[in-house]
Amino acid sequence: MSAIKLGIVGVGKIARDQHLPVIAASADFDLVAAASRNATVDGVANYPSLAAMLYAEPSIEAVTLCTPPGPREADAELALARGLHVLLEKPPATTLSAARDLIARATGQALHASWHSRHAPGVAPARAWLRGRRIQSITINWKEDIRRWHPGQDWILAAGGMGVFDPGINALSILTEIVPSNVVLSAAELDLPRNREAPIAARLHARTSGGAPIEADFDFLQSGDQTWEIAIDADDGLLRLADGGARLFIGGEVQAAPSLGRHHEYAGVYSHFAALVRGKQIDVDLRPLELVADAFTCGVRNAAPDFEF
Ligand code: NAP
Repeated sequence: MSAIKLGIVGVGKIARDQHLPVIAASADFDLVAAASRNATVDGVANYPSLAAMLYAEPSIEAVTLCTPPGPREADAELALARGLHVLLEKPPATTLSAARDLIARATGQALHASWHSRHAPGVAPARAWLRGRRIQSITINWKEDIRRWHPGQDWILAAGGMGVFDPGINALSILTEIVPSNVVLSAAELDLPRNREAPIAARLHARTSGGAPIEADFDFLQSGDQTWEIAIDADDGLLRLADGGARLFIGGEVQAAPSLGRHHEYAGVYSHFAALVRGKQIDVDLRPLELVADAFTCGVRNAAPDFEF
C-alpha cells in the first residue's frame, strides 16, 4: 500500500515535539510539504500558507492542522473543499457549531478530530476495567504550569483559546472515553485574569448518568510537581490514571501497560488516521468540547489577578 502524501500546517510546539517525528517514523505517511508563516521544516517544501502549499503541491492527499483552533477552522474548510483528508489537532474547533459544520463538509474523505490523550497506554485498559462496574465518584486533577508548557502562547488566553481548558479538555477526552455512561455538567467556576479572555483555572461539577459525582480541578498555575490524574472509585476498587493516562493503578497495584515511548500517543493518532483515510471515514467525537462549552455557558466567573508570561 503506498504512503499517503501529507502536508502539515502550523509548525509550532506540538508539530515539532510530536507530529514531525511520528510522521517521519510512519510507513503510512510521506511528508511532502509544510505551511507556516514563520517556521519551516527541513527536507520538505515550505510555504507561508495552506493555500500556497496546495497550489504548488497537487500530489498532497491529506493535511494535518496543528495551528490553534481559531485559525485552524478556515484551513479545515479549504482542505475539505479540495477533497483532502483532514487531521485536526485538539480541540477540533473553537465552537461546536463550527465543528459540526466541518463534519457536514466532509463528503467522501476522512476527517478526524484527534484526542491524543485517548491513546495513552492506560486508557484502553481503564475503559475495559470500568465496563460493567458501578462508579461511586470521580476526581480529576489536571494541573500544569502554563509558563513551562505553553511559553508565550498568548492565543491560549485569548477568546477561543479556551485557557486552562486547552489541557483540561485532554482529561475530558479520557473521561468521556472510559466512563460507560453520559457525563452531565451541572456547574462550573472559571477564574479569569482581568487582562485576559480565557480562564487560568476552573473547577467543574458534573455527574455520570448513574448519579456518581465528578469533581474536576483544572489549574494553569501549578508550580512544583505537575499533575494529570483521574481517580475513579468503583464499588469494588479504586482506579487511578496518572501522568495523563500513561500509568494505570487499580486497587493501588500498577497495571502493566505497554508504552512505545515518548511518542506513544501520537503514534496511535497517526495509525488511526491512516485507517480512517484508507476507509474514507469520519471520526469526530465532540463530547469533550461539549463539556467545555457547557462550562463556559453555566460557569460562574471569578476575577483573577492579571497574568503575564
Ligand atoms: P504553538 O506552539 O503556538 O504553534 C501553533 C503554530 O500555529 C504557531 O507556531 C504558528 O506558526 C501557527 N499559527 C497560525 N496562525 C496562528 C495564530 N493566529 N496564532 C498563533 N499561531 C498561529 O501551539 P501548539 O502548542 O503547537 O498548539 C497547537 C495546537 O495543538 C493547539 O490546538 C493545542 O491545543 C494542540 N496541542 C498542543 C500541545 C502542547 O503540548 N503544546 C499538545 C497537544 C495538542 P507560524 O507563526 O509559523 O504560522
